[in-house]
Amino acid sequence: MNLQFLGAAHTVTGSCYLLEANDHKILIDCGMFQGARNLRDLNYEDFRFMPSDIDCVLLTHAHVDHCGLIPKLCKQGFKGSIYATKATCDLVNIMLPDSAHIQEADAQITNRKGQRMGKTPIAPLYTIDDAMASLKQFVAINYDQEINPVNGIRAIYRDAGHIMGSAIIEVYVMENGEETKIVFTGDLGQPDQPIIKDPTHIQEADYLVIESTYGDRKHQIYDKETPLAEIVNDTMDRGGNLIIPSFAVGRTQTMLYYLFKLWKANRIEDYSIVVDSPLAVEATRIFAKNTQYFDEEATEYIKKHGKLPQMPQLRLCESANESKALNTEEGSRIILSASGMADAGRVLHHLKHNLWRPESTIL
Ligand SMILES: [Zn+2]
Repeated sequence: MNLQFLGAAHTVTGSCYLLEANDHKILIDCGMFQGARNLRDLNYEDFRFMPSDIDCVLLTHAHVDHCGLIPKLCKQGFKGSIYATKATCDLVNIMLPDSAHIQEADAQITNRKGQRMGKTPIAPLYTIDDAMASLKQFVAINYDQEINPVNGIRAIYRDAGHIMGSAIIEVYVMENGEETKIVFTGDLGQPDQPIIKDPTHIQEADYLVIESTYGDRKHQIYDKETPLAEIVNDTMDRGGNLIIPSFAVGRTQTMLYYLFKLWKANRIEDYSIVVDSPLAVEATRIFAKNTQYFDEEATEYIKKHGKLPQMPQLRLCESANESKALNTEEGSRIILSASGMADAGRVLHHLKHNLWRPESTIL
């Protein structure tokens, strides 16, 4: 058995492990490098293996730093199955075409600049067509269901409590009559997050491959609703906008859940709430469809108060013109917009229009 770390080493993006055993080659995740230019350039390098030699991919979750190079892998000859939980399959249906759209737009900008300097045009890392084609190779599985992706290897996905559909993957390799258990945690959630379940406790492993992004920090679990209510009420009283940069998958839905709860408890008024990101709107629909993955509290809550996010004051903003119009509209509102890192996307124009306004808040 041989295990190679091909990404997310010395950096936190580009997760990809190559497991070789019993003459089989399996990838665990096939993520995109994100961040500074020198990291993103790694996405254009050749894979350290022949894509056609890979038997299958086991995918932990739908974040692009874990699945973003799958269309490139398929385009370059990988023909096997990609195993992922049902909710992850729903989410990659929107994440991978969106990522392809960004790749196409990036290449277009680079080529426009390059043309003036007489450079040869570059092709996008992959196109929307490549992304759509790769989606056909996904196989949806359930949590806690054993699968046999190749001879001599079995795998079980456990809830990682990180985002909807996220999994810790237990891989059992049988070699020379002996079984070895390797656990790939993927990204791990914190306990007590709203909506999704807590991460599963894994009791034992021969080898543990664990994410360590926040390894040197102690996460604090505290009441987030009270400070949020204060910030909402203060900002709305001042007549400003509350801008919340939010990841399209996960953070947006968490914030909507908190706002819904605060509104139902009359702790905030029916202030206008806008989700301004087409990807976040799509992801929110997928969350609402997959309530079987909700934790007990969220399940009880929607039983009592109706399906999330049913608020008459909520607007899902999909077109670019509607988004721009928000800057000239009268009144105050809460705007959830991507990207969560505030480095791209529509949130940038909301920051530009609100950072200088003392009555507005960036949360
Ligand atoms: Zn993640």
